[in-house]
Amino acid sequence: MLETICDILVEAYKRNWITSRDGNISIRHHDRDHFYITPSGVRKQTLQPDQFKKILIKPPHSWNETGTGFQADRWGWKELPYSDISSNLKPSGEIPLHFGLQKLMGQHSNEVRVVVHVHPTYCVAAMHAGIDLNTIVDSFPELSRYTKVAPNVPDVPPISQELADACHKNLGLNHETGDIKYDIVGIKGHGVVAIDVSPWRAFEHIERLEHICKIVLASGKH
Ligand SMILES: [Zn+2]
Repeated sequence: MLETICDILVEAYKRNWITSRDGNISIRHHDRDHFYITPSGVRKQTLQPDQFKKILIKPPHSWNETGTGFQADRWGWKELPYSDISSNLKPSGEIPLHFGLQKLMGQHSNEVRVVVHVHPTYCVAAMHAGIDLNTIVDSFPELSRYTKVAPNVPDVPPISQELADACHKNLGLNHETGDIKYDIVGIKGHGVVAIDVSPWRAFEHIERLEHICKIVLASGKH
C-alpha cells in the first residue's frame, strides 16, 4: 500500500492538488501498533516506499521500553527504524494531525485507516470565497451520497497542534473510540484532510469534493 500512496501523490501533483513538497499521507493496519507516514521536505511526486517513516503508537500507561515502569498517562509516539534512507528523514510536520486520527481506529478497527492531506485548488478557492464546504452537499446529492463533508476549519497555523485539534474536532473524532463522523474536512486558506480504508478511497472523497467546488465556482452562484 505504500506504493499506492506514492502513486496517489503523483496523481495529486498532476492535478495541482499539491506543489512538489506539499501533502502528507499516513496509513495504519488494524493489527499493527505502528503506522507509516510520509517524510517531511521531500519531493512528493518522486517519493519511494523506503522513504516513509514508521511510527510506534504508545498508549497511555503502557510499559516503557526497559520494562521498568509505565509511560505517562497520555498517548505518545516514537520513530521506529525502517530503512537506511528513511533514517535520515523526519516525519511530516503534520504528524499531530495524523497521530490523533491513527492512535485509535474507531469504525476502521478491522481494516486499514488512511489519512490524506493535500491542497486541492478548487476546494481551497471555494473556502477562500467564503463557502462552507459542509453546506454545498445539500445541492449535490452525488456528493452527499458517498462523502460526508465536515464544517470548515477556520484559519489555523500549518504544522501545529492547533490545526490538528481543530481538524479532529470538526471531523467529529471521538478520542475514546477513534470513531470519525465525517470523511473529509477543509482547512481555510490551506487544504483538506480525507480518511478512508484505502488510499484510493480517501483520494475519491477529495476528487468528488474538488469536482463539486469547481462546478460551484464556475456557476458564479455562491
Ligand atoms: Zn498542508
